[in-house]
Amino acid sequence: MQRRSFIKKSSTGALALGVLPTMAFSNQTEYSILELMGKTDIKLFGEGINLRKAAHDAFVEMKKAAYSDGIDIKVISSYRNFYRQEGIWERKFIRYTEQDGMEPLPAIDKIIEYSTIPGTSRHHWGTDIDIVDGYRKVEGDVLVPSKFGAGQPYEDFKKWMDENSKSFDFYLVYTDTPGRRGFKYEPWHYSYAPLSIPMLTQFRSKNILQLLEAEEFEGAEHFTNGFLNSYIKDNILDINPELL
Ligand SMILES: [Zn+2]
Repeated sequence: MQRRSFIKKSSTGALALGVLPTMAFSNQTEYSILELMGKTDIKLFGEGINLRKAAHDAFVEMKKAAYSDGIDIKVISSYRNFYRQEGIWERKFIRYTEQDGMEPLPAIDKIIEYSTIPGTSRHHWGTDIDIVDGYRKVEGDVLVPSKFGAGQPYEDFKKWMDENSKSFDFYLVYTDTPGRRGFKYEPWHYSYAPLSIPMLTQFRSKNILQLLEAEEFEGAEHFTNGFLNSYIKDNILDINPELL
């Protein structure tokens, strides 16, 4: 990827000049923990796109290229702040525990098949999108893995993305690689790597466990250290290795 070769080149340059290698990273953007957890407003670009500038620009280029190949990339979901995610989480927690009578821990396990704990969604970063082919008429929910399979409405879209998304720096996050843990296969969720890789690196360097223990939304009181540790390992970090 371009970013890696750039860093490699600049570290070599820095070494040649006798500067400490860490200096090469000194102008890399620092993200605050509030920003990484979706708790501050960030500048977003593009009506119905809502991504950070670089991600938006790459997305527009990718959309144009797909369009000329007969695919109309449509954004279903992009930036979502902490409080939106908190609403999604609490609605599911209350439905599963109060309406369906589930115990809190199985209810939480069911929520995290597809939904993140508020503060840990990659959608908080302005780098990630859920997309489909707007040309296809699809009944009911569109974000269903089987609809991206052979003979299904989004088969061509998936094929096009497999062949082309990386040249625009968009990578699938939750792949169908056998043995991958954490969130289930999401053939619709793509991430703009040049921004999301450094953001994940910075996020994982924080004490995520302590940050989540301090949260007070519905269900958070049931989080144990063991649960949170495996959530971090599986749900946050067991993703497409090209995004680590
Ligand atoms: Zn998503």
